[in-house]
Amino acid sequence: MGLIQKIQSFLKGNRNKSVASVTTDYPSAQIIPRAEHQLSRKHISRHALNVLYRLHENGFEAYLVGGGVRDTLLELRPKDFDVATNALPEQVYQLFRNCRLIGRRFRLAHVFFGRDIIEVATFRASSQAIEEDEDDNNHNHNALLHADSGMIMRDNIYGTLIEDAWRRDFTVNALYYSIKDYSIVDHVNGISDLKQRILRMIGDPMTRYREDPVRMLRAVRLASKLGFTIEEETQAPLFQQSHLLKNVPPARLFEEVVKLFLSGHGTVTFEQLVHYNLFGALFPATATHLSDPQFHKLLLLALRNTDKRISEDKPVTPAFLLAIFLWPAYIDEKARLQEQDMIPVEAHHQALATVLKQQSAFVAIPRRFAEVIRAIWELQLPLHSPKRRQIFHLISNQRFRAAFDFLELRAQSGDNSVKSAATWWSDFQAADETLRGQMINKLSQGKKRSRSKSKPKNKKATDDSGSSDEQSQSDH
Ligand code: ATP
Ligand code: MG
Repeated sequence: MGLIQKIQSFLKGNRNKSVASVTTDYPSAQIIPRAEHQLSRKHISRHALNVLYRLHENGFEAYLVGGGVRDTLLELRPKDFDVATNALPEQVYQLFRNCRLIGRRFRLAHVFFGRDIIEVATFRASSQAIEEDEDDNNHNHNALLHADSGMIMRDNIYGTLIEDAWRRDFTVNALYYSIKDYSIVDHVNGISDLKQRILRMIGDPMTRYREDPVRMLRAVRLASKLGFTIEEETQAPLFQQSHLLKNVPPARLFEEVVKLFLSGHGTVTFEQLVHYNLFGALFPATATHLSDPQFHKLLLLALRNTDKRISEDKPVTPAFLLAIFLWPAYIDEKARLQEQDMIPVEAHHQALATVLKQQSAFVAIPRRFAEVIRAIWELQLPLHSPKRRQIFHLISNQRFRAAFDFLELRAQSGDNSVKSAATWWSDFQAADETLRGQMINKLSQGKKRSRSKSKPKNKKATDDSGSSDEQSQSDH
């Protein structure tokens, strides 16, 4: 018997027992026929349609689900399109040449169309159904693994559409658009919540947050993005349960952080994370500095700037925001080391390493972004006091633009020590050749400064002194 047949026969055996009995407990679905909803095929990407039709033509059930349905019904442009099917991942793999199977916690198929990815998930059984199943079946242990905290570590038991609906997070995320008759299948009263703009957890919120603490962040992110109210029972645990996030791998939290702050609604999402006491669980070093009004302003300016860039379809990098988030911790640490007589260049490197390492215990920062953070910070001093011989070197630096934006935000946040430098660079970039020459001539030569003169003590969080000229040149 092949692997697929084995899994199918195994599932059949199980379903005949406990899953079917759970299934009968589910309330009946509401089917909204095509004539009674606004989701039309013209709203769906052709790649997603291609996947849906291919599955359907091969005898499988295929639905659009999640944000693609939710956002379209709200007349928003979905970020991506997710497909749910009764085809097993291996069967999806066989249908699409441009397909890759990914994930351990959730086994999924990714179908690639150039840079566009359609995520295809096989219907999964609800954790309740699986738990009953586990009681009866020892060999099912591998499919759903719970950690002591109640968190689901592995979740690969396949089920029916009803079961799949009940294991999704929020009711508005569990609406299924059928490619067979273009109806919407609603098992969880999601349409009603969507109309009332309510974000409601499916099942018992506390249990569901324990199973996967990232759902707390998703609640805040989706409510902020959609302008929804988080239903009372869904909302209550958020204030007290930030500690659950310690159980989530930092790499997964990084992905979530990118969605939180780089989806175009970062400012309101940040404010809501602070409101629910969740922000400190992600960025403890940042949270301790929020009471500094100048830093708070810097952070809000950076978030607004990022939101604006996204709305204008300009590129953004998580590194810029992370450089802002971690700036005061870095400055404090560098000052502390210099107070212990460490030379500035060493203090810089050590402070950078310490701050990034401490942060990575909560939210991992991939190396390529750590590099950009380093470059932005290192360029602050040379930008702060530009020297004649460095100008063209600085302006041609790959990270110049990000470092300049950083300097400008610092000036806007009320850091008077960098105001004139920010204005100088802004004027310089706008100037023609002749004017640029004149501006450069007015600058000092920038002879090597004496290393023996140490920096003044008790630096403020927004001070950038201590970085050497050589460091900025080492940026690539
Ligand atoms: P967006 O794509 O706009 O961020 P989304 O709701 O589509 O929002 P995805 O991460 O694309 O989010 O997930 C697709 C769907 O998968 C969700 O709508 C939800 O039904 C389900 N889902 C995602 N993450 C979880 C989770 N942690 N627990 C339960 N269901 C989830
Ligand atoms: Mg999505």
